[in-house]
This record gives sequence, structure tokens and C-alpha cells, in this order.
Amino acid sequence: IISRTQGPVDLYRFDRFASVKQRTMLAAEHPTCAWPGCNTPAERGQFHHLTPWKHGGETNVANLVTLCSYHNGINEDDPNAPPRRGRLTRQGGTIVWQPPHTSR
Ligand SMILES: [Zn+2]
Repeated sequence: IISRTQGPVDLYRFDRFASVKQRTMLAAEHPTCAWPGCNTPAERGQFHHLTPWKHGGETNVANLVTLCSYHNGINEDDPNAPPRRGRLTRQGGTIVWQPPHTSR
């Protein structure tokens, strides 16, 4: 989309769901669920926002990761919720699991 006043507009906040191109890139990065020890294939997985959409996270590949539905469900999205199962973050280009009770 091209704005008359701003030129090309960043659409990362326009669509909550990953595009086909983004899904292809994410499956190449993680052929299986990115949660440590999980082998669910990416094609049966979901695309999870590392910074949650409802907290302003963008739909771009740097903020997305392949997770199975189970691990997408248990990943801690709410920074104010009681710690339970930890969460995935991207550090230096790599997806890492961050245990509960660690600072963010
Ligand atoms: Zn999984």
C-alpha cells in the first residue's frame, strides 16, 4: 500500500497472520516446532509472535517462530502473568528458550 503523504506503508501491523513467503522462510529456519525437544513438523505447526500481537508485536519473520499448537499454547505471552513454562525469544538471530523466573 502506498500512502499519498508517506509513500510505502509498513504493513507489519496490518495483518496478524504470516504471508506465504514468511511461512516458507520460517519453515526453512525451523523445519519442526522450535520448542526444545519437539519434533512436530512445521507444516502441522502454527506461527507464533515472539512479542505478542496484542502487545504490539509485528508480523515479520524476526518476530515469528514455528511452534506446534501445544507449545504455542503453553508459551508465556503475558509478561504480567505468573511464570509457568517459559517462553521463546530471539537472541542474536537464534531462537532460544527462556525459562520462567528470568528477566525479559
Ligand atoms: Zn512443539
